[in-house]
Amino acid sequence: MQMKKPAEVLLLGPGPSPVHPRILEALSRHTLGHLDPDFLAIMNQTSDLLRYVFETNNQVTFPVSGTGSAGMEAALVNILEPGDKAVIGVNGVFGQRMVDVASRCGAEVIEVEAQWGGPVEPDLLEKTLTAHPDVKLLGVVHAETSTGARQPLEPVVELARKHEALVLVDAVTSLGGLPVEVDRRDLDIVYSGNQKCLGAPPGLAPITFGDRALEKFRNRKSKVQSWYLDLSFLTRYWGEERFYHHTAPINMIYALFEALSIIKEEGLEERFARHLLHSSALVAGLKVLGVQPVVSDKYRLPSLIAVWIPENIEDSEVRSRLRKDYLIEIGGGLGPFKGRVWRIGMMGNGSRRENVERLLKALGEIFNQLGHKCSHEEALSEAGKVYQQQI
Ligand SMILES: *Cc1c(COP(=O)(O)O)cnc(C)c1O
Repeated sequence: MQMKKPAEVLLLGPGPSPVHPRILEALSRHTLGHLDPDFLAIMNQTSDLLRYVFETNNQVTFPVSGTGSAGMEAALVNILEPGDKAVIGVNGVFGQRMVDVASRCGAEVIEVEAQWGGPVEPDLLEKTLTAHPDVKLLGVVHAETSTGARQPLEPVVELARKHEALVLVDAVTSLGGLPVEVDRRDLDIVYSGNQKCLGAPPGLAPITFGDRALEKFRNRKSKVQSWYLDLSFLTRYWGEERFYHHTAPINMIYALFEALSIIKEEGLEERFARHLLHSSALVAGLKVLGVQPVVSDKYRLPSLIAVWIPENIEDSEVRSRLRKDYLIEIGGGLGPFKGRVWRIGMMGNGSRRENVERLLKALGEIFNQLGHKCSHEEALSEAGKVYQQQI
């Protein structure tokens, strides 16, 4: 059987993001044995590059074999024991997923809810931590991909230190797109995923554990429920001993290595500035088309922009024309945002001026076809002003 050749769709949705040709080339290199000395060197270098991107010196820093959700599961299943109390901030789908996974670990989960499109309020977290002494873990989503909201981390860490809880951060849509700064912010456990701001194909979940988290892990009384994600096996495989546990996804690690090298060549500061610039230009242009962002300027992510679908415009009609006539993918809304919101990713290699302009032009043309009068020339000129200010 012949596979249909994948069309070159421009991925401007909530992930995967566009994969750089250098990464695709790395993926197709010769497959080595997973204990081959050359491959072991690649594993070590990949961990070094991950430490650079996470901005940490944590020894235990490696990619979990699996997508971002496997990173979430690896964090929770190793840290939480049955009966442990965990407070989790929920302001979208991924906070909800964290609650689900934590409760499957047998933890007593206390949810702190926030409105979709905003961050979780530190005051509410504080009240909850005071009402429930002996909380072991405080979990938040740094970049909530279902709403486009950024969670400020400093107040969360401050509360966790005061109440002697560990801080768990989902950095799937922030790592490589905005500062995560694991050591400077004193975050205990942080995981991410390949296919958002890191720009690799889906398949690996970078993760890092700090000393406090490792101490909690070592003092476990019960066995980790998951054999595959048990940190004691994974650290023996990724550490000096090279104890065989499972076969690392060799070629996927080549791809991650290449993606991280591209980030290092660009520089973190430059990369964060690029994400901010193109998302600002996009928002400026979208407003001219009558499309308003969901999240206020203060909390809006540079990597994912959620926008309200204009009135009298049908969600699926626009997205299918974008895909069919313009070869562009954007995302629809989830949960309460279904049919009301589009999610536009400006992640990794996708965050570029030509993509901002291509999307504004395509949306402008489709809106006019559907009888919603607007001018994409004006939208491009408004976006252009943002680029002018930069120079
Ligand atoms: C995408 C995403 C995940 C899940 O990652 P998968 O690779 O789809 O398993 C978790 N958290 C956030 C914030 C995400 O955006």
